[in-house]
Amino acid sequence: MSLYRNTYMEKNNTKKHNVYISEEEKTLNWNDVRETFKKSFGTEIYNSWLQKISLEKEFNDYLILGVPTRFFRDWIVSRYLDKILEKVKSFKLSLNRIEFKIIEENQQKQEFIKIEELNKVSEIKDSLLNYNRLNPSLNFENFIQGKSNDIALSYSKKVCEHVSRYNPLYICGGVGLGKTHLLNAIGLELQDNNNVMFISAERFMYHFIKSIKKNDMVNFKDFFRKSSVFIIDDIQFISGKESLQEEFFHTFNSLIDKGSQIIISSDRSPMKLERVQERIKSRLAGGLVVDIEAPDIDLKIKIIKKKIEEIQNKFKENISLSDEVINFIASESKTNIRELIGVLNRVIAFSRVHNKILTVADCKKILKDVFNQIRVITVDKIQNTVSNYFNIPLNDMLSQRRSRPLARPRQIAMYLAKKMTSRSLPEIGRRFANRDHTTVIHAVKTITRLSEQDDEMKKNINQIKSLLIEH
Ligand code: ADP
Ligand code: MG
Repeated sequence: MSLYRNTYMEKNNTKKHNVYISEEEKTLNWNDVRETFKKSFGTEIYNSWLQKISLEKEFNDYLILGVPTRFFRDWIVSRYLDKILEKVKSFKLSLNRIEFKIIEENQQKQEFIKIEELNKVSEIKDSLLNYNRLNPSLNFENFIQGKSNDIALSYSKKVCEHVSRYNPLYICGGVGLGKTHLLNAIGLELQDNNNVMFISAERFMYHFIKSIKKNDMVNFKDFFRKSSVFIIDDIQFISGKESLQEEFFHTFNSLIDKGSQIIISSDRSPMKLERVQERIKSRLAGGLVVDIEAPDIDLKIKIIKKKIEEIQNKFKENISLSDEVINFIASESKTNIRELIGVLNRVIAFSRVHNKILTVADCKKILKDVFNQIRVITVDKIQNTVSNYFNIPLNDMLSQRRSRPLARPRQIAMYLAKKMTSRSLPEIGRRFANRDHTTVIHAVKTITRLSEQDDEMKKNINQIKSLLIEH
């Protein structure tokens, strides 16, 4: 009997570990979760913010929550995200991240029409549409030109004028610099006269695996190869995934052969992609590669002004930030445009709530407050973020295997655990599959040295840090 039970439990466990690709295991009762929110945040915050959040999709390791506006999302993210995650985790431990989806009324209508427009070929189509809808608010009109994105922007526009002349167009650059925005803008521009497919590499993989499981590869191939404009976001995700690369390679070739335009984004240039087949890298580099750099202060100021204008128009309210305050925000926000917009939203939210014209001193206080907020950065969170960042399964990262592609991320995670949490070396060691504290010391030393000598390492560390701080 007990033997039977063990086997049963083991089976269950295995199932849990396969969560990566299994969609939607619904276990959360959203009403219960809301009750907990009410208790722990208090009725006032609950009524004005949390009540309006809906549960859109539930996956084993993350949730997609619906919110009414971008502003609402940014506010929630900057104030309550950690606590929300902590609360939902108490219902379902396997959750480690939350994504937000903005549910605007007119957007829902649009989606509806689109689904109807398409003739049903397979269910791939429906589920794809749910995820890979073009966002009407990320267009060329509101993409601000600056020195750092000038070339990427002008070639994105050229692609729309001369489809297939620059093929593929490959846009690379760090997190939050506008790659997805540009890809989306190209999609919007071309969608009227072309069959546009816009998908992230991660979703491409998801559908690929789902089709294999369902024995439905014919439809999968058909579906993607039918597009005349194929836009794929964050291609670095294919790193280390051999069969996915194989499939992508064939899709790529067949699209190019029939003259379809391909547009790709990535966080690095084609040749720097790790664990990607050489033939794919050279295919990716075979068209035009353009890159987006970090914004200079001029661009940041222009973006702030544009955002203010957008918010004023949308909410029909007057937002007055002095040039001095705008300059201050632009110079304070160092890493990327996503962060810049987040900071701006906080400042605006503050001035709205307190109904006053802000001075630089106010802003300093607000931002200090924001940066001082105790962020719950745990060893768990670091391990998850690092393994996601390098696209390696968490179990492999924690395993005893010593190959470089696993050992480096493991060391980086240990290094960050030391730097960003208050855990002691032995405690960190234990959390990494019971390693000795000397292993942790060695990791910290190695990564400290590498991040001083090696630009790539420095960049990786910074990006992971900003992921940890932002989410
Ligand atoms: P990435 O895909 O490179 O990580 P995104 O395209 O998601 O970055 O951009 C992050 C945020 O910054 C988005 O809200 C986007 O609209 C905004 N953004 C980036 N670049 C610009 C720009 N040049 N003008 C206006 N908004 C921008
Ligand atoms: Mg992106």
